[in-house]
Amino acid sequence: MHENMKIILEKIKEYDKIIIFRHFRPDGDAIGSTKGFATLLRNTYPEKKIYLQNNDFSQYLAFLGGEDELLPDEEYADALGIVLDTATQKRISNQKFSLCKELVKIDHHIPVESYATYEWVEEHRSSTCEMVAAFYEAFQDELKMSKEAATYIYTGMVTDSGRFRFREVSGETMRLAGLILDQGIDTENIYANLYLEDVESLRFESYVHRKMKISESGVVSMFVTKKMKKKFNLSNEDASACVSFMDSIKGSLIWIAFIEGDNGEIRVRLRSRFVTVSELAERYHGGGHACAAGATVYSKAEAKALLAEADALLREYKEKNEGWL
Ligand code: AMP
Repeated sequence: MHENMKIILEKIKEYDKIIIFRHFRPDGDAIGSTKGFATLLRNTYPEKKIYLQNNDFSQYLAFLGGEDELLPDEEYADALGIVLDTATQKRISNQKFSLCKELVKIDHHIPVESYATYEWVEEHRSSTCEMVAAFYEAFQDELKMSKEAATYIYTGMVTDSGRFRFREVSGETMRLAGLILDQGIDTENIYANLYLEDVESLRFESYVHRKMKISESGVVSMFVTKKMKKKFNLSNEDASACVSFMDSIKGSLIWIAFIEGDNGEIRVRLRSRFVTVSELAERYHGGGHACAAGATVYSKAEAKALLAEADALLREYKEKNEGWL
């Protein structure tokens, strides 16, 4: 057991008010871990005030339900803040986290920045939800799980591990997933919510397959312009999902989506198998995991420069390594 888990439980017991935060542009793990953790704490300590305080929303994950209305600033001062799934302060959705009396961080990203008094960071974990499940397992005598909490936690475990496919998935991941599954959750419903698409996004997918570019060494990329978003009636979230349309092409070990924003910024989503792309992302105002990272560029020229670096990275990887696919 990580040394800070016990301290975090003690801190939770100490406070009457707990405010839970996550990163902006939430994914299944950000929503799942925060809602899962909040529900676990609400089940266990009904007398405590537990709030989810975040500023943005994911349409894709709307099936998991909403969060709490924003509290006035003065409510933060006597609260314990718990930030889940967020490596750096600037990525926290609600910047009022800093008003909390004390702060806890629970995360599985590469630890680039320390910002909380009590930190439990394990980058080998496949998801923050796996850590929430591990927290429950460690303190089962104290904590009360429920079908609702398990649904949130399982959704994050499934999505952030690429459906239990990524290299971080361990025997421990599967044992913890088993523990969560044993709560009797409706996996058919979860998967239907995760997979079903409307026809428009399916059409966008085939458009991406036609328009994506493949570099000399095999980097696949797609640049989604504002015009395309309008044509296919895509939200930024829908447009950003296109990175996963390029994930299974033989020899293309790196794939990248560029999504043009409204303010001159271009969001970059980098994905890979075998090759590490997080260092490349870090050179372009970003970061993340070895094989799933994000960055921002501010012009098409900068996007081109990033692509050229990705092409060189993949060429070098292919020259020096064998057994890749
Ligand atoms: P995304 O493509 O936005 O889903 O990001 C993939 C992973 O990289 C996620 O775990 C993010 O938390 C992380 N990430 C994305 N953008 C950044 C950034 N600008 N700085 C640090 N980490 C990032």
